[in-house]
Amino acid sequence: MNISTVSRTLAIGSFLFATTALASSGNRSTADLYNAFWSPGHLSPFECRFGILNSTPLGLPRCMQASNIQYHLDMLYGIAQANDGNRAAGLSGYQASVDYIKTTLEGAGYDVTIQPFPFNAFYPAGDGVLQVTAPTPTDYVWEEDFTYLSQTEPGDVSGTAVPVDVELGPDNMSTSGCEADDFTDFPAGSIAVIQRGTCAFGQKATNAANAGALGVVIFNQGNTDDRKGLLNATLGDDYAGGIPVLATTYDIGASWIDQPDLQLRVVANVVREQTETFNVITQTSRGKGNNVVMTGAHLDSVFEGAGINDNGSGSAALLELALQMKRAHPRNQVRFAWWGAEEAGLVGSTFYVNSLSQEEQDKIKVYLNYDMIGSPNFGNFIYDGDGSDFDLAGPPGSAATEALFEKYFNLRGIASEVLR
Ligand SMILES: [Zn+2]
Repeated sequence: MNISTVSRTLAIGSFLFATTALASSGNRSTADLYNAFWSPGHLSPFECRFGILNSTPLGLPRCMQASNIQYHLDMLYGIAQANDGNRAAGLSGYQASVDYIKTTLEGAGYDVTIQPFPFNAFYPAGDGVLQVTAPTPTDYVWEEDFTYLSQTEPGDVSGTAVPVDVELGPDNMSTSGCEADDFTDFPAGSIAVIQRGTCAFGQKATNAANAGALGVVIFNQGNTDDRKGLLNATLGDDYAGGIPVLATTYDIGASWIDQPDLQLRVVANVVREQTETFNVITQTSRGKGNNVVMTGAHLDSVFEGAGINDNGSGSAALLELALQMKRAHPRNQVRFAWWGAEEAGLVGSTFYVNSLSQEEQDKIKVYLNYDMIGSPNFGNFIYDGDGSDFDLAGPPGSAATEALFEKYFNLRGIASEVLR
């Protein structure tokens, strides 16, 4: 998209605006007039039915009714309610979300592509257990004293606690468990007690598994005050150690050192499986197919909630945009994507990009991503596409995109701010 095209279409929109709204104006400011035009109820949704109003950059946002977007959000919330409270990738709430987007788009006349991709699903099936079983039995408190390292294998194991190359105290430089050498004297069939520090959690746990550990507890490093509490970390999508791994605080881990016959029980009640999940993709039938404007939002939620802000908001707005654009005549083809498994690390969108030939990739001239766009305490923030504010420009087209957003907010007299 270039700026002269934008200006021209803004001008067409202005004309339309003039014919529908200006006639009854007094001597209010331009921004007031535009805002009157955009105010709910000023025009009836009737005008949005025929692809004239919603074919223009000024008319399209007018046709985007908050009540319609709220309706989609309510549907996504209902889906989460009916599916254990979440819409996480790999689970039934996500599948129902895919179905909702697909059937709604198809109802409007779109051809919809459901793109499957491989995905390593991980989610808790229940609370874990961490106990000292001897000499003095102690139960630790789930989510307070300990938690799962994400991507742990499930399991219920018991054995002697064996500290691995730990270094306690402030300013320590722990390399606990980072080298295979750390496990030279490690007795197979015991539980490795490993300290955070220097290398990745997955590497520590894999070294322990290779040395014959039944399970691992990784405690926080304790070198600084902000590394004493409960860890929230991942072993990585590619963790292949095959044994359960829990995380605990520095104080708990440190209390086990120098206790030669300490017996631990480690239980991870999780599901970890290689499965597949889906992207949902559609596009306008009209517009230049070699000059595609693409927009996307991740449809999956985290496991812990319904994901209505993150990212029902982006998904619902994108759905309504697609519905409104079904009647539009865009100059360039507009493609819409609802991504799967974003919360697991941009898995769906990465798969999509890799599935396109270079030629197909080159047809996409700009991509706009919408993640968490609804809030009662909002700001109108625009990314620094041209790099003028933060010296970090986006890919080609980002400067024009930033200018377009600025133009829109300026037109309406709404404050906006550029951020990196
Ligand atoms: Zn998100």
